[in-house]
Amino acid sequence: MPTATAPSPYKTSTGSSTGPNGKAGSHVDFNAITDQQFLRAADHMKLEDEIQLRLRSPYREMVVQVPVRMDDGHLEMFHGYRVQHNGVRGPYKGGIRYHHKVDLPEVRGLAALMTWKTAIVGVPFGGAKGGVTCDPTSMSRAELQALTRGFMQKIDLALGVYRDIPAPDVGTNAQVMAWMMDEYGKKHGYTPAIVTGKPVNLGGSLGRDEATGRGVMIITVEACKAYGINLKGAKIAIQGFGNVGSWTARLIAKLGAKIVAVSDVHGGIFKEDGLDVDKVLEHVKATGSVVELSGTRAIDNEELLTLEVDVLIPAALGGAITKQNVDNVKAKLIVEAANSPVTPEADEALQSKNIPVVPDILANGGGVTVSYFEWVQNLQQFNWSHQKVIGELEDRMLRAWKAIHARSVEERTPLRIASYVEALDRVAQATRQRF
Ligand code: NAD
Repeated sequence: MPTATAPSPYKTSTGSSTGPNGKAGSHVDFNAITDQQFLRAADHMKLEDEIQLRLRSPYREMVVQVPVRMDDGHLEMFHGYRVQHNGVRGPYKGGIRYHHKVDLPEVRGLAALMTWKTAIVGVPFGGAKGGVTCDPTSMSRAELQALTRGFMQKIDLALGVYRDIPAPDVGTNAQVMAWMMDEYGKKHGYTPAIVTGKPVNLGGSLGRDEATGRGVMIITVEACKAYGINLKGAKIAIQGFGNVGSWTARLIAKLGAKIVAVSDVHGGIFKEDGLDVDKVLEHVKATGSVVELSGTRAIDNEELLTLEVDVLIPAALGGAITKQNVDNVKAKLIVEAANSPVTPEADEALQSKNIPVVPDILANGGGVTVSYFEWVQNLQQFNWSHQKVIGELEDRMLRAWKAIHARSVEERTPLRIASYVEALDRVAQATRQRF
């Protein structure tokens, strides 16, 4: 039986990613992280070797070149990826990331996370992820559109409403999804269900924009109850103020918690008695960043992670909490809104300090859950009300939390192992039934 120390069947990352702890050169190997978590859980549940073999590696990987004529006339060659990890429970599902550090191992690790996440929230999808190595912040709208259409043409052959359905992730948004849908439609006819996270008037679902943050909020409420933290008045720090971080801040502040610190790629802000989240949002809209909001103290991303708070919510990129900074973390609870923000070494250190960590595959499953609702609405050509979407989302997130928390208590195992075991159990069962 493979053990946690067994080498990955895949060559790991070149370590090109720099985590949002801001440390230049900190090497985060997402595929190795996911692989290690998989092996720990497989070992814990004594998963049979053949099932491990089938579930550990991806089903299909595509690497494509995407030439784009840039605004100044020169030709730029981008590289894009789509990894389909596992499809035994349904069509492959996962976001598309535009970021200058995206590479195949990162996409591979994120694709596996999607397989476990869709299983945990109980939606009938498998796991996939995609990405293009680019810096969307330095590209014009025309360049981004050309890149998106070119990428879509290249991965078209692996996609399908019942085969593989992309969605937004870091650096992509509803507009990018609209271009992807439009490009797919040129060849296949009007097919809104080919992507989720679209603009609402093009078949997107009400509540999709806020879905991941809302799911993080629901899980944070439950985790606070379970670990004896009174959310009313609790101090919360959130790293990353994009889609997920900003919605999480907004929704948790409404429950009476104090969002004492938030940050983005440019830096962070702190206010002891709690930030006015609406003001932060207005400031971001006006300036493009949270930094320099009047009445707040400037902090950097590293300081944010080490603040004395009740709940720390990393909601930026992976590799935020590592063995280098974990000893300085003082939060009582960590909720992983981002994917892989805590490295396995840091995870073990937090465990030995008795700081519970709610893992990504449970905490941020709200996005893919409402993506599923969007897909269902597109297939039925029927729109749900916002109330119905958030009611169904809450129902599924609570069911996932209850199953995993119960397993964690019964098996005296951290939430991360309990989550992986729950996910592997469901995917393994479907695998045994199929083969
Ligand atoms: P986004 O692009 O909207 O926002 C990312 C935020 O992180 C921005 O505020 C950005 O400035 C900040 N950031 C980037 N680099 C940083 C750094 N080095 N230090 C500090 N902050 C940094 O992305 P998002 O959609 O909010 O996704 C955030 C995380 O949540 C990612 O890990 C993503 O994979 C995960 N996630 C997103 C969804 C979703 O529905 N959008 C679903 C599940 C998981």
